[in-house]
Amino acid sequence: MDVTNSLYYDGDWHDTAGSESIPVTDPATESTIADVPTASEDEVDAALESVERASGEWAATPARDRGELVRELADLLLDNVDELAEIIVQEQGKPLDHARESIPHAADLVEYMAEWDRRIEGDTLPGDTRHESVHLLRKPYGVVAGVIPWNYPIAVLVRKVAPALVTGNTVVVKPSEYTPLSTIRLFELIDEQLDVPDGVVNLVTGAGSVGQQLVTADEVDMVTMTGHVDTGKAIMRDAADDLKEVALELGGKAPAIVWKDADIAEAVDHVVAARMTNAGQVCTCAERLYVHSDVVDEFVEAYTDAVEGLELGDPMDSPDIGPLVSADQVAKTESAVERAREEGARVVTGGERPDREGYYYQPTIIEGLDHDAAIVHDEVFGPVIPVISVDSADEALELANDSDYGLSSYVYTDDYQLAMRFSEELEFGVTYVNRSIGESWQAHHIGWDESGLGGEDGKYGLLKYTRLKTVYHNYE
Ligand code: NAD
Repeated sequence: MDVTNSLYYDGDWHDTAGSESIPVTDPATESTIADVPTASEDEVDAALESVERASGEWAATPARDRGELVRELADLLLDNVDELAEIIVQEQGKPLDHARESIPHAADLVEYMAEWDRRIEGDTLPGDTRHESVHLLRKPYGVVAGVIPWNYPIAVLVRKVAPALVTGNTVVVKPSEYTPLSTIRLFELIDEQLDVPDGVVNLVTGAGSVGQQLVTADEVDMVTMTGHVDTGKAIMRDAADDLKEVALELGGKAPAIVWKDADIAEAVDHVVAARMTNAGQVCTCAERLYVHSDVVDEFVEAYTDAVEGLELGDPMDSPDIGPLVSADQVAKTESAVERAREEGARVVTGGERPDREGYYYQPTIIEGLDHDAAIVHDEVFGPVIPVISVDSADEALELANDSDYGLSSYVYTDDYQLAMRFSEELEFGVTYVNRSIGESWQAHHIGWDESGLGGEDGKYGLLKYTRLKTVYHNYE
């Protein structure tokens, strides 16, 4: 596929002079489907000038009008579900039905954020003198740079763009070098169908170095990034030079605790989805299971049956499990399982690459590991889960909390008091009790510890894109 559009700023597509390009690979066939130009430093500079030029006027645009544009973006997504989903399948390997679901889900978030347009409230407080009133105003940062991962290319993109625009920021985004094609198509649709003021939304493509240029640019006031912990730390270091605001949504290693009184069949269903959705490539995936010793054999048997029943196949046929995004992800998953074997793991099911073309890895369950094994602590973005038997709530909590990450956690129990205790004492930004993976947009998606800084969605995610300004009115 020839990619002519990859650089969008000032309300227009621009030819790229940069000589470098990055191939995009279809994970199901391992073939190159496009070569996407990398923006040169000068081109990124031009985009940055455009986004900064537009910033004052956009901040001054009535919130209702900004909300209207964001509402139109939601409609645009809904009008183009099939096309965007098919591109995502080709570049990322997501099963088609899941890719299709991800677009209305993203549109729902955009619509939710648009609803905030006239609700961005400040405060009015009494002053300390007779003729003074104190006003706290919520102002946009100015220019927001959005750095995007590959696992949900459109959903994660609009999760940043929608709240940034509603609150009055202009935006420049850089999609992942693995999945730029759906973003490029979305920008083509925006260009053709929405009346966006020039410079308000901008796109640059390329690898991490292009992201780094955005992070270090004088024009950028806030960086919002979703990705790996190491990348987040590098961004924070770079942003520290001029003390930019950063919001980082990073990796996870979610524990799932299954208690002896849980409905085992239901817990199995929930944990299969929580680990295997998107072939295990979701930051909130359940990545380690702590099962009460009284039910561990029953649980593992039922879980193994369910996992072995999953259909692995061509993502265009909407199987349960498609390929991983890249050869690199398969290699990382493979080496995590090999290391677990060396550390004494027993592979209950899976543990291999299937004998077929594409970046596939078998859904895998492993047992018999000590808690200090690497696979119990390191994020694995693949369909692999270790099971550990526990005897008491104290032990479950101690082991579950023994992690550098703090994004999500899962609990399955019918014991109300235990559910309350687990949800209070699990040191994670999100705890799911008796349910599976997936967020509600009015809630808050937040990683603690090394899983991030900031938080997205809901009122608090929206307000992250604003900063407070205090005005003292002396009207004597
Ligand atoms: P990644 O960190 O490799 O890349 C993310 C983005 O950062 C890409 O666009 C990349 O080009 C860019 N980048 C790389 N180096 C950079 C630098 N020095 N400066 C600026 N930008 C740079 O992550 P990935 O492999 O695309 O995504 C997978 C990771 O994302 C996993 O760890 C997963 O848990 C995490 N994730 C987190 C959430 C969340 O909400 N917490 C959601 C989805 C994915």
